[in-house]
Amino acid sequence: MRIAVVGGGVVGVTTAWELNRRGHDVMVLERHDRAGNETSKGNAAQRSYGVVYPWADPAMVFKALPWLVKQDGPLKMRVPPSLETLRFMLSTLRYAWSPGLFGLNRRAMLRLGIHSRERFLALEDELDLPFDGQHRGLLHLASTPAALDGYQEVHRLLAELGIPSRVLTPDQVREAEPGMVGDGPLYGALSYDTDGTGDCHLFSRELAQACERAGVDFRYNVEVESLEADPDRVRALAIRGVDGQLERICGDVFVVSAGCWSGQLVKPLGLDLPIYPVKGYSLTATLTDSARAPTSTIHDDNYKVVSTRLGDRLRATGFVELTDFNRDIPDARLATIRKSVESRFPGCADLDTAETWTGFRPMTPDGPAIIGKGPRENLFLNTGHGTFGWTLSAGSASVIADVIEGSTPAVCLDAFRPGRFSE
Ligand SMILES: Cc1cc2nc3c(=O)[nH]c(=O)nc-3n(C[C@H](O)[C@H](O)[C@H](O)COP(=O)(O)OP(=O)(O)OC[C@H]3O[C@@H](n4cnc5c(N)ncnc54)[C@H](O)[C@@H]3O)c2cc1C
Repeated sequence: MRIAVVGGGVVGVTTAWELNRRGHDVMVLERHDRAGNETSKGNAAQRSYGVVYPWADPAMVFKALPWLVKQDGPLKMRVPPSLETLRFMLSTLRYAWSPGLFGLNRRAMLRLGIHSRERFLALEDELDLPFDGQHRGLLHLASTPAALDGYQEVHRLLAELGIPSRVLTPDQVREAEPGMVGDGPLYGALSYDTDGTGDCHLFSRELAQACERAGVDFRYNVEVESLEADPDRVRALAIRGVDGQLERICGDVFVVSAGCWSGQLVKPLGLDLPIYPVKGYSLTATLTDSARAPTSTIHDDNYKVVSTRLGDRLRATGFVELTDFNRDIPDARLATIRKSVESRFPGCADLDTAETWTGFRPMTPDGPAIIGKGPRENLFLNTGHGTFGWTLSAGSASVIADVIEGSTPAVCLDAFRPGRFSE
C-alpha cells in the first residue's frame, strides 16, 4: 500500500519505519526541516515502560491544588486560564472521577509499554543507531516515608504484569547511583530495572535517515493544510511548501501523527481529538564530572524533576504547565530544575551554560494515546501520546501497523480508541 504519514516526530518516524519494514511504500510529511524537532526534541529522555500512567489520576486531583500555588510546585497554570485550558481541566476531572477508569487505562498503557520495550530491543538490534540509548533502569526516589509506602503498591501492580521492580533502601540507592551525594531528602526508591533512556531527538533523526535509506520518502518543510475526503475515504492531503505552492498527495492510506496539531486536521472530518499542549522545560548540559552524574535516569519526587544521563551529557526536565502554546522559558522554572539537580548530583555539570528548551506534551484529557482507525476507512491515528510518546513510540508504531493491515494488534487497543471522547 502507498501510505502517507503526517508528522515527523518520534511517533511518525517509528510508524514510517514499521510500515516500511512490512513492505509498504511510505511517505512522511513534516513542516520542520528535520525529524523530531518539536515535542520529540528536548524531552526527559526516559524510555519508562514501567512508569506509564494516565494523566487523569484521581489521587492527583487534591495533591495538585497546593502545587499550583507553591513557588517550586511542579504544576503551573496561567491565570485566568483560557477557555481551552478550562475545557481540558473539566474533561480531565470527569475522567479522573470515572470509577475504575484510571486502573484500566494504567494497565492498558503498561501492556503497551511492555510491547514497546520488545519492539525497541528488536529495532536496536536491527539498526544499531547512535542515540545515547541505554537500558540501565530508572529510579523513582522517595523523599518522604509516605512516598516510599506508596511505591509498595506500584511494585505489586508491576509484579502482577510481570514487570521487574525493586523497593530500595537509601544505601542501595547510593550504591546504584554513587554520584548521588547531595543533601536532598532520601528514604529509598522504587527501581524499574528494565526501563531505559535515550536521546529522542537523535533517535528520530537517525531513524528517519535509516528509513530514507530503506526507501521512505521524507518531505520536509511542508505544511499539511487539510485532508481531502469523501464520505467514505480520504482522497488526498493538501500540502503547502515554503514556496507557497499547493500540492496534492494521494495514497491508499493516511496516518495522522501530528502531535499537538492532530486535532485541527481531523476535526473537519467530524472527529473531536481534545489534545491539549501540556508544557514542560528542560536543560541539557555537558558533564563536567561524570563520576558525580547519574548513571541512568532519576525521578526526584521532591521537585518532580527528572535527571537523565545521555552519554557525556545531563538532561534535566520538569514542570507541567497549562498555558496553551506559549514558548517563553521563565528563569524561575530553570532555577527549580537546577535546584533539584544540585540537591542530588552537585557539581556534575555546568548548569548555567546548559541548553534550554520548552515543548508541549500532546495530552489527552484521560491519558491514553489515540491509536486506531479514524473517521474514514483509510484514515488512521497514532497520536496524543502526552508524557510518554518516546517510551511508547516503538510499540504504538507496531500496533497501528497491525490495525492498518487488518490483523489483530499485539496489544488490546480499547483504551486508545479514537472515538472515545464523544461516547
Ligand atoms: C518536558 C517534556 C518531557 C518529556 N519527557 C518524556 C520522557 O521522558 N519519556 C517519554 O516517553 N516522553 C516524554 N515526553 C513526551 C514526548 O516527548 C512526546 O509524547 C512525544 O515527543 C510526542 O511525539 P509525536 O511524534 O507524537 O509529536 P511531535 O514530536 O510533536 O511530532 C509531531 C510532528 O508533526 C509535525 N506537524 C504537525 N502538524 C503538521 C502539519 N499540519 N503539517 C506537517 N507537519 C506537521 C510537527 O512539526 C512535529 O514535528 C516529554 C514531553 C515534554 C514536553
